[in-house]
Amino acid sequence: MIKIPPFDVTKQFELIGEELNKTVTAVLASGHYVGGEHVTQFETEFAQYIGTEFGVACNSGTDALYLALRSLDIGAGDEVITTPFTFFSSAEVIDMVGAKPVFVDIEAHSFNIDLALVEQAITERTRAILPVHLFGRPVDMTQLMAIARKHSLYVIEDCAQATGATWADRKVGSIGDIGCFSYYPTKNLGCCGDGGLVTTKDAAIAQKIRVLREHGSPQRYYHDYIGMNSRLDAIQAAILRVKLPYLDKWNFLRKAIADRYQQSLQYLEGIVLPADCAGSVWNQYTIQICNRDRNAIQAKLKELGVISMIYYPLPLHLQKVYDYLGHGKGSFPVTEAVSDRVLSLPMFPELSDEQQDIVVDALKQCLI
Ligand SMILES: *Cc1c(COP(=O)(O)O)cnc(C)c1O
Repeated sequence: MIKIPPFDVTKQFELIGEELNKTVTAVLASGHYVGGEHVTQFETEFAQYIGTEFGVACNSGTDALYLALRSLDIGAGDEVITTPFTFFSSAEVIDMVGAKPVFVDIEAHSFNIDLALVEQAITERTRAILPVHLFGRPVDMTQLMAIARKHSLYVIEDCAQATGATWADRKVGSIGDIGCFSYYPTKNLGCCGDGGLVTTKDAAIAQKIRVLREHGSPQRYYHDYIGMNSRLDAIQAAILRVKLPYLDKWNFLRKAIADRYQQSLQYLEGIVLPADCAGSVWNQYTIQICNRDRNAIQAKLKELGVISMIYYPLPLHLQKVYDYLGHGKGSFPVTEAVSDRVLSLPMFPELSDEQQDIVVDALKQCLI
């Protein structure tokens, strides 16, 4: 039985394993495992790639978001607007700093926060908007920045799924006040473990995050804040430095695969294809199954050897942990409808035409 996985991170190792082995061995031999040249170089190289001033590496995308909120002194009594249709981290960090997540429904075609609904969610307590460029697709940052500026709100971009994505010729993570990236292995640029980074044009924010990620300590053994230990390992930085030059090519391949799905699936009845978007980097290729049992189709695809994924089966406002916000079913109808319909098909840069044809044929069989 041929199995087409939803992603396959081993393929990159086949491609650049020799380079990776060399750099990792050199780090091991150097004895510099925490901090050092690879980390600072990668921070500079990544900030340059994104087109912004500063990069501050940390231990995960979640930490990047947490540190971003902390650097802006967002905490108890504050509200932060975000989407209920995202990975849990985007909202979790808001609670971690003691603030309150305020959810705003999404647009069905983009899966992203519905900007037409943002203004009515703003209150006196709102401090920031935290848009998520979900599945690699950029939020309309022109419109979002206009709303934020009008109401003097910070913008923290969750770029975890969108490394390299562009809005109006600028990379996401260079447009808001702060950009937050994850290098979890299945992201567009992934390391071999956990990793993250914060981008900003603001020197003071960058400096505050550098201090917060190191126990709130601007100088060793002197502590100005309660911080944390959130450093990117030297080995992971070295791996990311090898991989970064390949990122545009890998994103280009993802786009070609997405285009090919769009072509091959366009006449299939009963599904809605993801809306085209020039700046997307296609972390996921996500269709919506209409008027059919999505879970049954996923099970049948699996029988045919194709593994698909459901991102995300339960919207955040309906998670047990958010009972305290008091949102019942029906609070965010678009999010709820979409989460019952979504199905993400196999998507990774090395997915071959033959593998993709198998996915398309299997899906056709399931929809007959
Ligand atoms: C992966 C992800 C995160 C968290 O990144 P980690 O590195 O896993 O902590 C945050 N937000 C979104 C949208 C993500 O997909």
